[in-house]
Amino acid sequence: MSKILILPGDGIGKEIVAQAIKVIDSLNANHNMSMNLVHGLIGGSAYDATGSPLPEETLIAAKECDSILLGAVGGHQWESLERELRPERGLLGIRAELDLFSNLRPAILYPQLANASTLKNEVVSGLDLMIVRELVGGIYFGQPRGFEIKDGERFGFNSANYFESEIARIGHSAFQIAQKRDKRVCSIDKANVLEVCELWREVMEEVSKDYPDVELSHMYVDNAAMQLVRAPKQFDVILTDNLFGDILSDEAAMLTGSLGLLPSASLGAKDKNGKMRSMYEPVHGSAPDIAGKGLANPIATILSFAMALKYSLNLDKEADALEKAVQSILDEGLRTKDILSKGMKEVSTSEMGDAIISKLQ
Ligand code: NAD
Repeated sequence: MSKILILPGDGIGKEIVAQAIKVIDSLNANHNMSMNLVHGLIGGSAYDATGSPLPEETLIAAKECDSILLGAVGGHQWESLERELRPERGLLGIRAELDLFSNLRPAILYPQLANASTLKNEVVSGLDLMIVRELVGGIYFGQPRGFEIKDGERFGFNSANYFESEIARIGHSAFQIAQKRDKRVCSIDKANVLEVCELWREVMEEVSKDYPDVELSHMYVDNAAMQLVRAPKQFDVILTDNLFGDILSDEAAMLTGSLGLLPSASLGAKDKNGKMRSMYEPVHGSAPDIAGKGLANPIATILSFAMALKYSLNLDKEADALEKAVQSILDEGLRTKDILSKGMKEVSTSEMGDAIISKLQ
């Protein structure tokens, strides 16, 4: 029996995760599976209930479970809290505590949704790229960081730094994924300006020697941001650090039409018994502007769970069935508001969840 920790978080998190839970219940009931759900708190709702955005019980449960499904965290009501108590700290904290260093963010444009993209059909149609982002290092975690008064004025500072071992392990992750795809890795950096990126590029060259079947290229991040909207289909696997990956993956999200469609997986290293820590979550945030209105698209969360089936639970067949169920309701013209186009039928968050489940049975 697999144990999955469910962390809905804040805002639309609860609504979208509720749809994934329905999927899990349906797989348990109709596909003879036994996934056991454990529920926990994270983010602003955890702060309200316990005074911490990452309560100890959540962390303990996270370490005991086979995998984690998370909704999203954040909201305006927690923005004035001390930085350490803000919802986003809970998310960064759990990623760091579990050492989930490899963040996989596929961007696939389903042919049914080619019109949802703001880019021309021929530029994005058939898009299938994977962003591999380093998730627990770089400037988001680097020390020293903080504020101080310097030369009589306020001064804010952060540190962008990586050890070569941190760079190498995310490199291996990306090359191994590329081996299962089109065997091309494009490593994104800013090596012309930043020393930390010079090291990144050097280490990627070294790692690539272990993967002679995979082609490695390098691109500066400013060019990559431009190429992603100019000709995104040139990429197979984009490999990048924490900061650049955060930005480029949101850009890639918009290529597909909506943040509401993009899943992600965050993976750790395998232990001696072959067990790997993992967390699955949509790329988007808690969308306070639409929370509680039944407008949120649950597809990114449901596809995140499909990634969990594939990468953590070794249930490839069920993952494929779930992805096909999503495609099939899109074929039928069902759309949440964010991806609605002329002639399609608008459905709520919950109706979208029910429709996907109906295709699974
Ligand atoms: P956001 O991703 O929450 O929303 C950006 C826009 O996309 C909004 O207009 C929103 O309505 C829309 N959107 C997002 N997800 C959607 C979905 N599933 N269906 C339909 N539309 C969707 O980003 P934001 O507005 O910059 O941030 C809101 C809060 O979320 C902030 O507190 C931020 O810190 C937090 N955040 C959390 C995560 C996370 O939990 N992983 C990621 C990003 C932002």
